[in-house]
Amino acid sequence: MRDFSTDHRWLSINTATVRKSRGIEQPLTTIIETCAERGIRAISPWRDQVAAAGLPVISKLVKTHGLELSGYCRGGMFPAVNAAGRQAARDDNRRAVNEACELNAACLVLVVGGLPGALAGQAAHKDLALSRSQVHDGVAELLEYAKLNRMPLAIEPLHPMYAADRACINTMEQALDLCDALDPEKSGALGVAVDVYHVWWDPKLEQQINRAGQKRLMAFHVCDWLTPTTDLLNDRGMMGDGVIDIPKIRGWVENAGFAGYSEVEIFSAGNWWQRDAAEVLEICIARHRSAV
Ligand code: ZN
Repeated sequence: MRDFSTDHRWLSINTATVRKSRGIEQPLTTIIETCAERGIRAISPWRDQVAAAGLPVISKLVKTHGLELSGYCRGGMFPAVNAAGRQAARDDNRRAVNEACELNAACLVLVVGGLPGALAGQAAHKDLALSRSQVHDGVAELLEYAKLNRMPLAIEPLHPMYAADRACINTMEQALDLCDALDPEKSGALGVAVDVYHVWWDPKLEQQINRAGQKRLMAFHVCDWLTPTTDLLNDRGMMGDGVIDIPKIRGWVENAGFAGYSEVEIFSAGNWWQRDAAEVLEICIARHRSAV
């Protein structure tokens, strides 16, 4: 297992972590500058942040600073109530692949979607199996396009509490079953993003990380699980402040062959987004050394 205690060369910042500084939305250009000033070598930006700044602007800035993208957030949201909705998802996912290519991302992260309409507050139906079959078909189709463009797709299993509104793939086992169905040759085009927040509780986690192996382990996201967690989405903890044994899980992914960045991804409306972004990044660096 790599020693992170003396430097932060394998730290990546998911830009949602510093989406807000002192409660105020920050432009991605500012976030990139604040990261680069601290010797952070990699980021994982969100599409809305890139769109707000302009893809050419961000592409140039990333190159200027020699930054890598540990991933690009995000594609997915495949299920829809009708063919027009699925077509819209297909088109949008292709644009996400194109953007990820322009930014030279390591992978496009997929949050696959749940019951259509649920995210907006009104699910169109209760058929989770239907959503899962639409996810299968959506990933299958996108995979062809992604292969042509040489952009790996990383399915991110989300904690089961998001099954209705964000992702009906909820365990590593489920994600890897889909990978094996669509990419049995383990081509390197399809894999998983392991986010400790979503999978830390899973009794099969170590087994499934081993099953994934180097070919399927495409991203490693870290934060912590607070007790109590007061908001299902926006109360993630800083590494070291919660109950996840992050070094143990990092040991598993590295033993299985993963050698990429540890990407800090913290959504925290009440705490970290209320602090100064520069302070948050300094703490991310310190905790990357001591608690990851
Ligand atoms: Zn994640």
